Amino acid sequence: MNLFEAVIGLEVHAQLQTDSKIFSSDPSRFGEEPNSVVGVVSAGVPGALPSLNKKAVELAVKLGIALNCKINLRNRFDRKHYFYPDLPKGYQITQFAEPICGEGFLEISEAEKKVKKRIGIDHIHMEEDAGKSIHRGALTLVNLNRAGVPLVEIVSKPEMRTPFEAVAYLKSLHEILVFLEVSDANMEEGNFRCDANVSIRRLGETELGTRTEIKNINSFRFVEKALDFEIARQIAVVDAGGRVSRETRGWDAAAAKTFSMRSKELAEDYRYFPDPDLPELVLDSKWVEKIRENSAENPEAIRKRLAQKLGLSESECTTLMSRKDSFEFFESAVALGTDPVLASRWINEELLRRVKELGPEATLFDLNLKPQNFSDFIGLIKSGKITGKIAKTLIKEILASQKNANDLVRELGFERIIDPKIHNQWVDEVVEKNPGPVAEFSAGKEKVLAFLVGAAMGLSRGKGDPAMIETILRDKLLARKNPL
Ligand code: ADP
Ligand code: MG
Repeated sequence: MNLFEAVIGLEVHAQLQTDSKIFSSDPSRFGEEPNSVVGVVSAGVPGALPSLNKKAVELAVKLGIALNCKINLRNRFDRKHYFYPDLPKGYQITQFAEPICGEGFLEISEAEKKVKKRIGIDHIHMEEDAGKSIHRGALTLVNLNRAGVPLVEIVSKPEMRTPFEAVAYLKSLHEILVFLEVSDANMEEGNFRCDANVSIRRLGETELGTRTEIKNINSFRFVEKALDFEIARQIAVVDAGGRVSRETRGWDAAAAKTFSMRSKELAEDYRYFPDPDLPELVLDSKWVEKIRENSAENPEAIRKRLAQKLGLSESECTTLMSRKDSFEFFESAVALGTDPVLASRWINEELLRRVKELGPEATLFDLNLKPQNFSDFIGLIKSGKITGKIAKTLIKEILASQKNANDLVRELGFERIIDPKIHNQWVDEVVEKNPGPVAEFSAGKEKVLAFLVGAAMGLSRGKGDPAMIETILRDKLLARKNPL
């Protein structure tokens, strides 16, 4: 039996969040009529000249700064040649020899093990996306709307050792892209796609093994599954005395397998050369410094602030920060003095569930909940004016009517009842109506107590205090069991 380790390097394509395409003024919006945002440059009409989108460059620099990369003040574009119907020019404009960002790194934390690991970034380059081919039986349709959409490709060093680390890297990168507004990184729309390179070697070896590249995986879960599968497959090949061949593979989600697509093309096959239509890109160092100064707080720093200053747990931070809208809503509520831990819990559990019901595109802002109203709502829970149970009903009422939380509580009589006499009456009623369970309790069956408390809470219509009910109930039942 051989012991192997895996070596993983990832190439991520992220769509830059610009209004227009990278070399033309065609809009880069998603979901338009097929071939409706395709001018002469996007269509690759001979003689149409590209002109670089400054915003795309700015976003690439911003990302490079966040990933601790060297920013190459002089960089340039190359043509990468290949034939495909969705690439009418016959070449893709990319950066091959001199990309905009050089080496950097990204820190990932392995939550369970509480260790931080630095994964090297090899480089980041800008490029244009190609169009899309849609296969319908014997027919192939071409939609060029995506042609010329600006992308960055972030290429890691082969420094990940497990599928788990690969996913941690992707999540961290995704978060940075979203938080710095470099990309919306929407995976369903294909704005964040990953090619995973993986090889195996015997433990202790330092040379890299032959790798395969799994193309275009668009979910974290699939990356993990595809890598798990591919590592096991490669080990089986080597264990059987075979050799892994250098190839490009696809991921078949339905079969949960990778499959061979083609043998890997080499750089020579693409006949790269500098694009003569685009001059060398020379960045002003002052402009780069300005981008550095204006960069928003990065997710790592935000996480530290939420955990250390506001007392959120690691998993609460992760859920809250998995979406920009929930984080922004949280920040605006906290700025109004809302309790951060309660706020994050109600956003993560209740509000996000509501948003998902509205559809995949919906954001928290579509709930039309004013941060001040949310803050008042949390205040009612925090001060104990309403019970947790009533809070669930109240938030539904707030979202349905948009009325103020405090007004609704008054209007609907939702205040928590604290009068012990009333609690006493509920308990009496429950004891009277449930002779069976009461007898069971007296016979030593502790578990029925929860049922009786629940019944009394029902009588209170959620407004009573379960702890007070339980105390009164216990006293009464014990008194019946051991009459003085
Ligand atoms: P290519 O020119 O084929 O795209 P690169 O050298 O640019 O190859 O590497 C692409 C990706 O593959 C990088 O993320 C790199 O870390 C990764 N990689 C390179 N060699 C290996 C290997 N032997 N095993 C796993 N990953 C690798
Ligand atoms: Mg590559």
